[in-house]
Amino acid sequence: MRTPLIAGNWKMYKTAAEATAFVRAFLPMVAGVADVEIVLAPAFTSLGTVAMLTAGSRIAVAAQNVHFETEGAFTGEVSARMLREAGVTHAIVGHSERRQYFAETDASVNLKVKAALAGGLTPILCLGETLAEREADQTFTVVERQLRGGLAGIPATDAGLLVIAYEPVWAIGTGRTATPEQAQEVHALLRALLGAFWHDDAAAASVRILYGGSVNPGNVKSLMSQPDIDGGLVGGASLKPDSFAEIVKFR
Ligand code: PEP
Repeated sequence: MRTPLIAGNWKMYKTAAEATAFVRAFLPMVAGVADVEIVLAPAFTSLGTVAMLTAGSRIAVAAQNVHFETEGAFTGEVSARMLREAGVTHAIVGHSERRQYFAETDASVNLKVKAALAGGLTPILCLGETLAEREADQTFTVVERQLRGGLAGIPATDAGLLVIAYEPVWAIGTGRTATPEQAQEVHALLRALLGAFWHDDAAAASVRILYGGSVNPGNVKSLMSQPDIDGGLVGGASLKPDSFAEIVKFR
């Protein structure tokens, strides 16, 4: 059984004071949730604050990025070790906004997945096709390339330590959600690809594959009813405590 995981990606929203107000309101709303893992991914400046405020709760904290070296002359970057010390347990890697605006490639994403794992963080590896790629019938080819590229050199024994997020780019921040059937089709493909990649169907079955792209309180239940959708990566609807709590409590 894969425990559902719902992660909120705050992108470049919320100061530390705003993050504090969110967590104070959100904690009592999800106090009774026992069967879902909850992850919050604030900006770097709020990570320590959110980690302190959520310590001892079911809420884990993710960075939105991680550098692939442990330390060095990399101005503006943050390593897995630094994140761990701040109380972070997960790292979003290869989000489409980072691929689009910060020139991340499957090769750099792969280095980051490896750095996260080596540093004791759970990588949440994001992948997904653009609208042009979907319309050109390239979805399967694109996600296969991103999956194989992002996981190159990662053994099946690490399957339980990582999370995949399928995020069709055309559904992110657009209000246009993939239908549950469209998402399930790609999730099932990704799981089959993982089985082939590792020659190990049991390892593939243990990986949580999240869906991301305009998830909201109204569509989360139907998405989560699909057999290979194990959670959500939520952007806009994670910014308000009540809407994110509703998503977390999709059952
Ligand atoms: C995201 O940021 O990963 C995302 C899916 O955003 P939204 O939920 O706003 O589409």
